[in-house]
Amino acid sequence: MNQKCLRCQLVFEQTIKWNDLWSLKRIFPEVVCEKCQSQFERCDVSQQIICRYCQHPIEQGDSCLDCQHWLKLYDDNYLQQESIYYYNAAFQEWIIDYKYHGDTRQAAVMLAILNDYYHKYKDYQWIILPSSPKSLQQRGFIPAEYLLQQAKIPYTLLLNYKGDGKKQAKKNKQERLALEQPFELNLKAKLSKNILIFDDVYTTGTTLMRAKQLLFQHGVNHCMSLTLARDLLV
Ligand SMILES: [Zn+2]
Ligand SMILES: [Zn+2]
Repeated sequence: MNQKCLRCQLVFEQTIKWNDLWSLKRIFPEVVCEKCQSQFERCDVSQQIICRYCQHPIEQGDSCLDCQHWLKLYDDNYLQQESIYYYNAAFQEWIIDYKYHGDTRQAAVMLAILNDYYHKYKDYQWIILPSSPKSLQQRGFIPAEYLLQQAKIPYTLLLNYKGDGKKQAKKNKQERLALEQPFELNLKAKLSKNILIFDDVYTTGTTLMRAKQLLFQHGVNHCMSLTLARDLLV
């Protein structure tokens, strides 16, 4: 069947893999041509020198500067983080179209890979981070949530956004630097022992750390985070 590639717009022929037909997994039709797909680069733990915690490429050692910083504040239970792709040019163009330009059709590009990860981590309770009312108003959707909905991956709304009741500009410097807890637990939701927080991009990890802190304080044993990619800040 001919299909227009969601990334380069060229027409390509969709193929069906026999393995997929025999497996019990849901099949997501190819929406990206082979050439565009090959430009998304999977984090390969064996191929490159990457941080053992967040899969960020590093020059030397076994962990990146960000993770070394987190390890001074938290134990390594907090650093269970997996990234699916490298944040390369192809990924960056995709996230700009999807998240910042609001082209929600682009979600389809990630559904097959998300389905694979859902099978890998199906014993986990998947949750997302709630958006602040401001970013929800700007975007009109929560990018991570929309991906899970499209991939038909069940998730729980375990966290509520509470903010801290103060506008950023009204805070003094110390208040801004303090590790504030922007979330609260949704008391109506059931809490499992193993939790997976899914997010689109891992940047500084600050919000994920706060969410994990809250969950650990409420008796969660194991909490990992999974993101499509790990952003490069420099
Ligand atoms: Zn293409
Ligand atoms: Zn790291």
